[in-house]
This record gives sequence, structure tokens and C-alpha cells, in this order.
Amino acid sequence: MIVTRFAPSPTGYLHLGHAFAAWEAARAGARFLLRIEDLDQGRAREEFIAGIFEDLAWLGLTWEEPVLRQSRRMDAYRGALTALAPFTYPCFCTRKEISEEIARAIEAPHGQSLHGPDGPLYPGTCRRLSAEERAMRMARGDAFALRLDAAKAAASVGHLSFTEHGHVHAVDPLLFGDVVLARKDMPASYHLAVVVDDAFQGVTLVTRGVDLLPAAHVQRLLQALLRYPEPGYAHHRLILDKDGRKFSKRDRSVTLRDLRAAGITPSGVEALL
Ligand SMILES: [Zn+2]
Repeated sequence: MIVTRFAPSPTGYLHLGHAFAAWEAARAGARFLLRIEDLDQGRAREEFIAGIFEDLAWLGLTWEEPVLRQSRRMDAYRGALTALAPFTYPCFCTRKEISEEIARAIEAPHGQSLHGPDGPLYPGTCRRLSAEERAMRMARGDAFALRLDAAKAAASVGHLSFTEHGHVHAVDPLLFGDVVLARKDMPASYHLAVVVDDAFQGVTLVTRGVDLLPAAHVQRLLQALLRYPEPGYAHHRLILDKDGRKFSKRDRSVTLRDLRAAGITPSGVEALL
């Protein structure tokens, strides 16, 4: 049985892009689940969560209860980080130090910096710290993020693949480099939380926008390290505005609640898509 989910962040009201994504997920799954990705406590708001339920119901969607809220999943993320400990290391770098290190690498003879889907890859500075140095800096209370040692992780799991719309693709485990899995103000990164929660909810088919296709590479790696089942993937087209850009929460004019207030019906929304 195919189990899908819609997983919005409650940092604004839902817009046309969300309507499309929610319908794609609901239509692909025999069971349709909902997850509120509210880990960003600085931006997540209860009124937006209420708005999600209201908008989805208006679109004619029904989802299984209970709705999973990421803000209540801290123990699960901590458990996953413990399981991943052999493949993580503390990174004490500030953003400024990382950009300086990348700049130095580019300026060096034959220098280059590797790019990933989210920009330049972390140059691995803290991966090379000694155990003593790590212990000393943690003991004195230096802030740190936990990073995945991607090469070590890749060597441990061997060849991986993922299935996108039924076609098998080889995983590039180094695509995102030594990606951050947790920081002081964010107990689980997007990639970690998605992997832990999809496994917990029993999601068998991950549907989402094609802009997140690269994420399947690092997420398959985390699934393999955590010995989770492998879901299939079905990335869908993005709904773009008239200027060809992704709708964002800033575009208030296209929120579902504003369309509703303007007298548009759900079938009118579908026609717009
Ligand atoms: Zn570092």
C-alpha cells in the first residue's frame, strides 16, 4: 500500500504551490498523512498551522490522524543523532570562518571549492581536528554544529540507489558534502528530520517539488546509515508565478485563503494550476 505525506512548514499561509503539492501527494497515496514541519520555532506560528488544516479541508483533502508535529519529535532526532555518532563530528566554524576557508582554497595554487545543491561545500576543516582538540573545545563550551562525515558514511554503506518515478538512479553520497545534521538552535536539520519522520510515519512514496530532487541523495545515505526502509520518490513540477519564479510566502496575493476570499472555488484553483 502506498503511503504519502504532505509536509508544509507553518511559516506562512499556503499558496497555489502547496495546493498542487498536497493534491499530488493525496492522489498518489492509498494512505495520505500530514506532517507539520515546525522545527524553526522562530518562524513557525500556530495561526499558520490552523490555516493549513483549514486550507486543506477547503481543497477537499482528508488526512489520517494524528498529524505529526516535528517540534514534538526532539527525542526521536536525538536518538537518530546518537545512532549516527560514528559518522558525525562537531564543527566549531562560524559562517565567516567557513567562507574565509573556501576563499583560501580557491586562491591556493590549483585551488577550487566544490559546489553542492545549496552552494559551496564545507571544506572539512573540523573533520581534521584531533580528539583532544574536540574535547577541549566542547569542554569550554564552544558552540558547534554536528556534521556528517560523508566520505566515511559512504564507505560504510557501499553503493546506494534511489527510485524516482520508477527509474533507478545511483546515489552520489558526497553531493552535499559534510552536511550539517544539527545545530544548537536547530535540533535536526531538514534532511535528518525528514528521514527520521518519513520512516516513523511509514511513508513509502515521497512526493515533493523537483527542486528537492538532489536531497534524495543525502537522504538515502542517512536512511541507509539508520537502517530505515527505502521509500520511492516522485518529484513533481513546481508551480511558478507569471515571472517564472517559485511562489514564496512573500507573495500574499496567491495564498489559498486570499483566493477563497476572492470567491475562487477549489476547482477554480485546480484550473489555475
Ligand atoms: Zn568546522
